[in-house]
Amino acid sequence: MVLPSSHSRAGAVADLRYSILSLVAQSFRGNTAWRPVWREPEPKPAYDVVIVGGGGHGLSTAYYLAKEHGIGSIAVVEKSWIGSGNVGRNTTVIRSNYLDHANIPFYEWSLKLWEGLEQDINYNAMVSQRGVLMLYHSDAQRDALARRGNAMRLNGVDAELLDRDAVRRLVPILDFDNARFPIHGGLLQPRGGTVRHDAVAWGYARAADSRGVDIIQNCEVTGITVENGRAVAVETTRGKLHARKIGLACAGNSSRVAALAGLRLPIESHVLQAYVSEGIKPLVPNVITFGAGHFYISQSDKGGLIFGGDIDGYNSYAQRGSTPMIEDVMEGGVSLIPTLSRLRMLRSWGGIMDMSMDGSPIIDKTPIEGLYLNAGWCIGGFKATPAAGWCFAHTIARDAPHELNAAFRLDRFAAGHLIDERGAGAQPNLQ
Ligand SMILES: Cc1cc2nc3c(=O)[nH]c(=O)nc-3n(C[C@H](O)[C@H](O)[C@H](O)COP(=O)(O)OP(=O)(O)OC[C@H]3O[C@@H](n4cnc5c(N)ncnc54)[C@H](O)[C@@H]3O)c2cc1C
Repeated sequence: MVLPSSHSRAGAVADLRYSILSLVAQSFRGNTAWRPVWREPEPKPAYDVVIVGGGGHGLSTAYYLAKEHGIGSIAVVEKSWIGSGNVGRNTTVIRSNYLDHANIPFYEWSLKLWEGLEQDINYNAMVSQRGVLMLYHSDAQRDALARRGNAMRLNGVDAELLDRDAVRRLVPILDFDNARFPIHGGLLQPRGGTVRHDAVAWGYARAADSRGVDIIQNCEVTGITVENGRAVAVETTRGKLHARKIGLACAGNSSRVAALAGLRLPIESHVLQAYVSEGIKPLVPNVITFGAGHFYISQSDKGGLIFGGDIDGYNSYAQRGSTPMIEDVMEGGVSLIPTLSRLRMLRSWGGIMDMSMDGSPIIDKTPIEGLYLNAGWCIGGFKATPAAGWCFAHTIARDAPHELNAAFRLDRFAAGHLIDERGAGAQPNLQ
């Protein structure tokens, strides 16, 4: 598949307030003339499109609806504040090292959009392509990663299979000779890396706002009005908003919000936790995933080590996790990097994951006219933020999916066309 060109689309936003000139001008005014990054508009009674959920996906959808499709009247309604959901809770990893033919082009398009994002939205999101390294610990794992790397390269994605010595040169701090989990090598995607997650929410919010999108915080959707098989309005804690089209981008709350329109989704919600250590000097140069347990780690620009692992085993809508999972993740971390045991852990938090039954997302129309769905991101939707918004905007505006999200259909679970990236079947705990 030939990907669209990200750079030809990367036009300047209408309001270029952040530049060296504006910084100098502000310094002469004592920094008193900055305006809020986005407005706080009152909800209007009617819009062309209402997006439910002001996370990364909802905000990027609104931005691309305005920018790529010229839709003038858009609202994003968020029950809490911008950045309060998973977009501000994730471990910031971006990559396109997928295996399945449906996933590779989609996530590669997302990575290309990340590469042009800061110029596009005129916002420093600290995109850092420091490389993502997946470790292997056995011959069988090496074969599986070689296959993945080949699939990536066949699709024009960067991938390098490293042997043990090459990994040792890259990250000497790892425990290479662990008797149970010796490191044999790794698959490196040099263009993968990290992005500052809350800057993504703020940057997209600012860029959407500057194109006229109303971002309405503290506005929970409590009902969806369906008349003659068509969704016509959302009922909210701040009044009823009519819309020609309604897009749901509610991540961990997708099932609850879709149920307001009578839809039952193939999704379970589970909590995923993240952890941050005290700040230290540079120790971990890239993003590293442990092949012998569910553990991954990177280091923030402030010096804290950021890591995570499995989802909690039970279903939950609470944004906090359990202590057994903390112990499990720490054990994985110390197996891979023994020196972690000397560090103090500063913080941990949780977010609600919308686990689909095959581990792949849904970006599609629903059986209800005028109602569209972006959901099922499992533990990996942050890296998808630009492409998910871009494809969801296309699907809403054109009433048909883009080629890049054509496989992410809602009816695939009934039709049997699953996108089983992990080969794990319908087991959310293994996705
Ligand atoms: C600990 C953790 C680590 C992760 N690490 C990574 C990673 O490294 N890389 C990666 O790619 N992905 C990662 N993810 C997953 C990623 O964060 C999510 O898949 C992605 O952010 C989901 O999309 P979103 O940003 O739109 O979600 P959210 O930010 O959760 O947005 C959904 C919004 O909908 C709002 N909402 C819900 N119900 C309603 C309602 N009734 N009315 C109005 N608004 C409503 C919520 O308040 C929320 O703000 C991680 C997630 C967690 C929790």
